[in-house]
Amino acid sequence: MTTAGSPTSRTEFGLRAIALKRGREDRLKSGHPWIFAGDLAEPLPADVAGAPVAVLDHRGGFLAIAVASGGGGLVLRVLTRQREVIDQAWLAGRLSSAIALRRRWLGEVEGVRLVNAESDGLPALIVDRYGPFLSVQSLSAGADRMLPNVVEELVNLLSPVGIYERSDVAIRALEGLPERKGVLWGEEPPDEQVIQEGKARFLVDIKNGQKTGFFLDQRLNRQRLQTLCGGKRVLNTFCYSGGFSIPAAIGGAASVVGVDVSASALDLARHNAEINKVGERCQWVEANAFDYLRELDRDRKRFDVVVLDPPAFTKTRQSVPGAMRGYKEINLRALKILEPGGLLVSSSCSHHMDAETFLSVIAEAAADAGRHLRMVDYTGPGPDHPSLPAAPETRYLKCFWGVVS
Ligand code: SAH
Repeated sequence: MTTAGSPTSRTEFGLRAIALKRGREDRLKSGHPWIFAGDLAEPLPADVAGAPVAVLDHRGGFLAIAVASGGGGLVLRVLTRQREVIDQAWLAGRLSSAIALRRRWLGEVEGVRLVNAESDGLPALIVDRYGPFLSVQSLSAGADRMLPNVVEELVNLLSPVGIYERSDVAIRALEGLPERKGVLWGEEPPDEQVIQEGKARFLVDIKNGQKTGFFLDQRLNRQRLQTLCGGKRVLNTFCYSGGFSIPAAIGGAASVVGVDVSASALDLARHNAEINKVGERCQWVEANAFDYLRELDRDRKRFDVVVLDPPAFTKTRQSVPGAMRGYKEINLRALKILEPGGLLVSSSCSHHMDAETFLSVIAEAAADAGRHLRMVDYTGPGPDHPSLPAAPETRYLKCFWGVVS
């Protein structure tokens, strides 16, 4: 197999072979799926962008088959650690396994993440289901290249009415890829697609909504909140389309105030309240949640339940200190406006803020607010968002449940 000369000239199953530097195979061997530019013996040849390559250790030993990036520091993403052919049958196997996992854990549900990228062995590929429509997001040159095959296989496996692409995300620029959206197959989704989640029905804007239309990751946390709100005054900040407000109201909340900066999100939220027949107990406020929380505290308003579900405050490791201040601020305000015995439901979806750090921020907020806070639970996303034990980057959502005295 080994030929003299460049270590990148070797091949495995006809694949281009890419060698790692000596001592750089440990992350890969531990189960992590990413290889960075500094791990390679030689720079990645430009003509492999998007293609599968064989990854070898410095002695030429086979480590994995990975897909090459189109640019950026993350140069290779592992497809398999087996010596196998990456073809349509391989792809069908990965997609079937991802779909089977959701069926087993959640049954047949209308809103669900069917493919969660690296965690399902399909790097940089997201597939979400909203009723009869699929929403697909491709975040790399490799996922782009595989996309026609993915569409073909999704049609075979799921017979959707339509498949829509939501690759309109800035992160694609790292691989030199443009933002893109539109129909990939079949019919165009309606402006508002209804999905059932537990007892709630939600309208999803597949074409223009945030993410791929809905925050599917909070499913179990929303359903749990529903059981804790009977007769309570609930404040739901960063409410988007009312993901937490609607279950709170269905669960018998006396009143639910939802706050978001986005007028279009609040339009959807209002519709959601109407179709769930809880409109009269829901109120929607278009405001910056930081300012609004401060005003509520100043005006001595009080709540029995406060939900905080902000967007990621940090996208880089460098901005973690600033993000910590942001999280501390909103948690401090929330704790101040909770009645004794009140419930704080506080989420962070920042990849760079690990679970222990987020907990320490909440502890500081409680200390500054002068409140005794008991943690009752600390949850993550639902089972349709699996993660890799060896890759902390695949875990991002944390949801703290605590009661103040
Ligand atoms: N809890 C929601 C998801 C929240 S996503 C659900 O279950 O569906 C975060 C939301 O925060 C987005 O809707 C975004 O519009 C909103 N947002 C971002 N910055 C904000 C700010 N400063 N004040 C209020 N809302 C904000």
